[in-house]
Amino acid sequence: MTRSQPSVAIAGAGIMGISTALHLQRLGATVTVVDRGEPGSGASHGNAGVLAAAAVVPVTVPGLLRKAPRMLMDRDAPLFLRWSYLPRLMPWLVRYLSHCDAGKVRTIARHLTPLVSDSLDEHRRLAAGTPAAGAVRAGPFIFAYPDSTYRDGDAFGWGVRRDCGFRFETVDGPEVRARVPALSPRYTSLMVLEDQHGVITKPGDYVRDLAQAFAAAGGTVMRAQVTGFLRKDGAIGGLETSAGPIAADHTVVATGAWSKRLLASIGIDVPLESERGYHVEFVGATVGTGDASVMITDGKCVAATMGDRMRIAGLVEFGGLDAPASSEPPQMLKRRALAAFPGLQFTETVEWLGHRPATTDSLPVWGPSATHRGLHFAFGHHHIGLTSGPKTGRLIADFIVGGRPNFDFTPYRAERFRSPSSAAAAG
Ligand SMILES: Cc1cc2nc3c(=O)[nH]c(=O)nc-3n(C[C@H](O)[C@H](O)[C@H](O)COP(=O)(O)OP(=O)(O)OC[C@H]3O[C@@H](n4cnc5c(N)ncnc54)[C@H](O)[C@@H]3O)c2cc1C
Repeated sequence: MTRSQPSVAIAGAGIMGISTALHLQRLGATVTVVDRGEPGSGASHGNAGVLAAAAVVPVTVPGLLRKAPRMLMDRDAPLFLRWSYLPRLMPWLVRYLSHCDAGKVRTIARHLTPLVSDSLDEHRRLAAGTPAAGAVRAGPFIFAYPDSTYRDGDAFGWGVRRDCGFRFETVDGPEVRARVPALSPRYTSLMVLEDQHGVITKPGDYVRDLAQAFAAAGGTVMRAQVTGFLRKDGAIGGLETSAGPIAADHTVVATGAWSKRLLASIGIDVPLESERGYHVEFVGATVGTGDASVMITDGKCVAATMGDRMRIAGLVEFGGLDAPASSEPPQMLKRRALAAFPGLQFTETVEWLGHRPATTDSLPVWGPSATHRGLHFAFGHHHIGLTSGPKTGRLIADFIVGGRPNFDFTPYRAERFRSPSSAAAAG
């Protein structure tokens, strides 16, 4: 007797929701994805596009507590705060900063490694046979340092990456210019990561193309606000939306930085904030980064070539989901880009603000709910959501359709934030 394939409702059509939808569809599930906007129009639209396969070191490294107050006062530092938001941010911030500890960083890195380390292969597999396949490009992720002393200041993070099994190369002197010809001579030292790294050209278009392939193969993409959850026999039985209810055997929450608000309606509380980030695109850019993505380490922003544009993206601003874009962060990105690439000329610039979904322990909320049968999570991926989206979706799809995959979701479960012992285990 064949088992009937499940129906699945997914809230959110970013890289998480669409990756999950495609993998489920390929396993035979009947899938509906709901988003209030176009697929790929949230954080997934304007990120730096880097498949950062070794991005396992969180923002909360040892020493951040000492540096942060000075950074907030320095208009050239990559950290911004809307001060009026501080009282609301405070409970989350205290928990977040409690992770600035070497041991906790190592635990976080260990749990992020399986999510990111095969990113290029996972994207190729996801996009195969769709119009999105052409957007997946292999290429190095290069960290550009003013000098070797500055680079040595990041030694802890590079040691953590090495301990997690990642390989990298140090490049100094004249070879720097050969690797990134357009880079200012001010940068004299590089760290170069190759294996499984790459760039997605125009990540928003990529997600939209994947969504179109999903729809063309019979999946449903619905434009509506998700307002809550349906209940059935003591389990979650689908989504309540502004366009009506969607009943389903399984429900996936992939609403990025907005997931906390949605889950509050069923009493699930996760410490999630928006780590606001920005990009500036230089249209008609006269120089580029080739196949590489280049991290400007003293500005904590990444430059990548996307068609005829150079996109420079990054920074962290705390200010919540509702405040409009601030004027200073994009100005800083422009200054950084022009200093790093002195030959850069362009016809116009485009600015963008996005919301990284940030948990307090820098790990995503991923996998089946321990408290609500039929409910699954795929959010909270901080700076690595594009990198890790396809694998996040594949393993959730395996779990829903095929039973348990050979993977332990324990470190990522939503309930880790409730019990002190499990929170410690998660780092
Ligand atoms: C400046 C910047 C640079 C970055 N660079 C990189 C990078 O180079 N590499 C990398 O791997 N990651 C990067 N990231 C992180 C990455 O973009 C995110 O982790 C990822 O896009 C999160 O994807 P998501 O699908 O969870 O969320 P989103 O893309 O935000 O999707 C969530 C969706 O849910 C929808 N939604 C929310 N609430 C509701 C509701 N109630 N009803 C209906 N729809 C709803 C939204 O409309 C949205 O479309 C960067 C982020 C920023 C901001």
